[in-house]
Amino acid sequence: MPVKRGSVLSPEVLRVFETLPHPYLILSKQLYILTASNAYLQLTGKTKADLLEKHLFDVFPKVPDWATEEGGIAFSLEQVLKTRKPHKLPITRFDIPAPVKGAELQERYWDTTHTPVLDTRGNISYIIHQTYDVTTQVLTEKNLKASLEKEVMAAAQASQLSRQMRELYKEVPAQIAIVKGPDLVYEFINPQYQNEFFPDRKALGRPLLSVMPEVTGKPIWDILQNVYKTGQSFTGREICIQLANGITGKLENHYFDVVYQAIRDDKGKITGVLSFKYEITELVAARKNLEQKKEELRTLNAGLVRANEEIQATNEELQTSNEELSSANEELFSARQNLLKLNDELEERVELRTLELLKAQAEATNQAERLKRFFMQAPAGVCVLDGPNFVFELVNPAYQQLFAGRALTGKPLLEALPELEDLLICDILKNVYETGNTFEGKELLVPLARAVNGPVEDRYFTFIYQARYDAADKVDGILVFIFEVTDEVLVRQKEKENEERFRFLLNAIPQQVWTARHNGTLDYVNEVVCDDFGISAEEILRKGWQAFIHPNDKQTCIKKWLTALKTGKEYLAEFRLKFHDEQYRWHLARAVPLIENGRVTLWLGTNTNIDIQKTNEQKKDEFLSIASHELKTPLTSIKAFNQLMLRINDPQKLTSFIKKSATHVLRLEKLISDLLDVSRINAGKMEYNMETFNFCEMLADSIDGVQYTAPSHRISLTCPQDIIYTGDRFRLEQVINNLLTNAIKYSPEANNILVNCTQNGTNSFTVSVQDFGIGIEEKNINRLFERYYRVDNTAMRFDGLGLGLFISAEILKRHNGSFWIKSKPGEGSTFFFKLLFDQTKTQEL
Ligand code: ADP
Repeated sequence: MPVKRGSVLSPEVLRVFETLPHPYLILSKQLYILTASNAYLQLTGKTKADLLEKHLFDVFPKVPDWATEEGGIAFSLEQVLKTRKPHKLPITRFDIPAPVKGAELQERYWDTTHTPVLDTRGNISYIIHQTYDVTTQVLTEKNLKASLEKEVMAAAQASQLSRQMRELYKEVPAQIAIVKGPDLVYEFINPQYQNEFFPDRKALGRPLLSVMPEVTGKPIWDILQNVYKTGQSFTGREICIQLANGITGKLENHYFDVVYQAIRDDKGKITGVLSFKYEITELVAARKNLEQKKEELRTLNAGLVRANEEIQATNEELQTSNEELSSANEELFSARQNLLKLNDELEERVELRTLELLKAQAEATNQAERLKRFFMQAPAGVCVLDGPNFVFELVNPAYQQLFAGRALTGKPLLEALPELEDLLICDILKNVYETGNTFEGKELLVPLARAVNGPVEDRYFTFIYQARYDAADKVDGILVFIFEVTDEVLVRQKEKENEERFRFLLNAIPQQVWTARHNGTLDYVNEVVCDDFGISAEEILRKGWQAFIHPNDKQTCIKKWLTALKTGKEYLAEFRLKFHDEQYRWHLARAVPLIENGRVTLWLGTNTNIDIQKTNEQKKDEFLSIASHELKTPLTSIKAFNQLMLRINDPQKLTSFIKKSATHVLRLEKLISDLLDVSRINAGKMEYNMETFNFCEMLADSIDGVQYTAPSHRISLTCPQDIIYTGDRFRLEQVINNLLTNAIKYSPEANNILVNCTQNGTNSFTVSVQDFGIGIEEKNINRLFERYYRVDNTAMRFDGLGLGLFISAEILKRHNGSFWIKSKPGEGSTFFFKLLFDQTKTQEL
């Protein structure tokens, strides 16, 4: 039943409602529209005439979407009528036509509340239908949600990209530099390093601290130093390094993923540090910015929730009293205004943040591009092997160059390079793939062909295999970073081989061999030197040559050596070197410089042992002076007798002078014939006339001859039987004569000489000549048969040239005879020799 407006509401109240700035309808209990606020009319595009005193559902038919269903308008009103309590609907979409006629419906969202106004008895007088257009808020929230989702996705994408990027560059970042020596002097910088890291500074050839003084005392400097000192690699992520801006000079934070690796030389000594850096400053900044924005968004959302709560509270207040409605509405209005403002702000921020997000994404894409460029420009071979079959996913030109013309990209490793099958390298790759452990190979031999259908060659590589991870942190490929070092390895192998051969050669030489640096410092000696000096090569090098040179030779030798060093001309010197037995031995030193590029780089020297030659020379000199003295003595006497003979006429005296003179002539003759014999022996021209004769007879004849010239001694012969022997009678007589004259000469105090000749069975016989003279010391016995050898203490007292025994020994040797001496100083000596009847037999001594 229709209800008249005026029957339930006073005109003032109606006016209040109508002028309210918010959309309201006042409904009768029977749901007839009693009035509508101007704001409601404006909102719905209806006139008062369209609404007043009409049933609500006549004006707004119960379309299924919003009216009847649970949570719809009809349902809500039913609840109010039933419970007499306010009922709030969830936010509902209800599209309305645009103000322009014929236009399509506009998407709208409504926040609707029905509030019963009760009379004094508690019955419903009318119902306030209150609805807010919350379209903007809902759409903003929707946008917000969508953009939040996008943002989370983009952040995840960016973080995955950056993680992948960093994984990829864990050991092979894009900016590469090599610093050498304790001052870390830049020796190599790749263009990326120069451009990205400090485009406005000169670094090559300069110490790191002079290029980047701002890192002095900073942890990164200590880290670098530590790598150089300990050789332990350093891997750091998001390392902050403060670098001065090239224009403003202000310090700015730069972030890097950093790998520092020590560089070692052949001997394993650290010579520098290899620096792999990848600047991630922009990425870090973008991420930090994103985090900040997220925080801001969270704060805004909290503000929104608070605002909603406020609205809720305001609504509740409205319900308690109609009188307070106006003022409450005002508050509500201002809250709504705030809300709208807030929404505007929010939208602005969302827009701003979306822009930043896009920028960050673009930057991430840029960085990925740059990364690819680095790969392609890297001086080392780089490739990415994808999946468990190691498919060549990315191959940079340097890598491709290792296999000129061979198709790699897109092919599995073993298909592209089948010669790798069954090689250790495949197991290594599998292991890296399975364990994720990085593998570093140094100068590893991998037989590989260079060109298509080319021969498989022994090639050496230094490389790093590094696992690549997917988003789920599972290994999904391998990053390969490789240098070919075949030439270097082969050159080194050759050098080593040459060096070993050279050393072998030097040690095979029977002389002392040494080398010295250009400044004269000894740096190598062969094994002969060590054996001679009886100490190790290290000790010899430490002591130097001078320590072994005879003090008397040192000065001249040093002078010559210094001159050679100064002039770069051959060095020649003679000096005595002290051997491990404390004996000095003469050496001839000769050294020549090795000249490379016009400069002396090495001295190669030899010391030849010339001790025997030197001693022989000395002996020869001594001999010559003795010989001249020996020859001069009888000559002087003969000259004197001749002068005497010229002056006197006494025939008796004359005969005596002639006899004496004849003795001296004989002596002279003996000396000359001895000298002749020695030179014959030396030249191998001593002639022997073999004949068969009675040895005992020859012995007796010789004794007679000597006895005749030496009446001071009595020579007795014991020869129990005749001995028939075939040999050179004259030469063997010479031996006997020599032994007898020596026995007489070296026993001036005695007067007996015993000669014995005994046959030993049927094979041989032994002859001995015994005197009772000065005797010979044990140490000299073995040397008596040497040429020119004379025992020192006899040389001064007795004349002689030290030739007799040498000649005798030679004669006996030619008769295949043997000889020996028994002697005691002060008691006398016995000289023995033994001859075989059959001279073809060898003597057992
Ligand atoms: P020479 O007698 O002319 O010096 P030899 O060759 O005959 O030369 O003898 C060599 C050396 O051997 C002698 O100088 C002497 O020192 C030593 N010698 C030889 N025979 C005897 C001996 N019977 N008793 C002691 N010393 C001897």
